[in-house]
Amino acid sequence: MKLAVRGIPTNEAQTLWQGGSDAYGLSPIQEVAKGQGNPCRHCLQLIPEGQPKWILAYRPFPEKQAYAETGPIFLHPTSCKRFEADHFPQWMEYLEPALVRGYDVNHWIRYETGQVIAGKDLGRVCLEILHDHNIAYVHVRSKFNCFQCRVERA
Ligand SMILES: [Zn+2]
Repeated sequence: MKLAVRGIPTNEAQTLWQGGSDAYGLSPIQEVAKGQGNPCRHCLQLIPEGQPKWILAYRPFPEKQAYAETGPIFLHPTSCKRFEADHFPQWMEYLEPALVRGYDVNHWIRYETGQVIAGKDLGRVCLEILHDHNIAYVHVRSKFNCFQCRVERA
């Protein structure tokens, strides 16, 4: 089995780039990236220090429901290429820790899947979780509980 690691859907990023509002109906806030920890959730690349970034509320679920957590993400303010690969971007190895949790087809958390792990173990742990076909996908989050990316079976 291979993993499919992806940034947020391009149509959702495009809606924002074309002036759309975020999950709370607000416009993205533009700031200058400070430090190293500014991953764009579409291309899953780090926005270099000094470059502009957007901060906005994002709900990585198709619709509102009890398990559909909404929180802050960063995004390039202009068009970038969606990350799609069978591996994680290298910077995620340095997530200390990374939070992972599996969801079922109804987008509910499967509690037995929740783990706090070292970023370098993301590939192995996601493969283990997705071995169970009751799990539709895995979310990776930071120690701040910020959504990083979604992982599925390729
Ligand atoms: Zn980007």
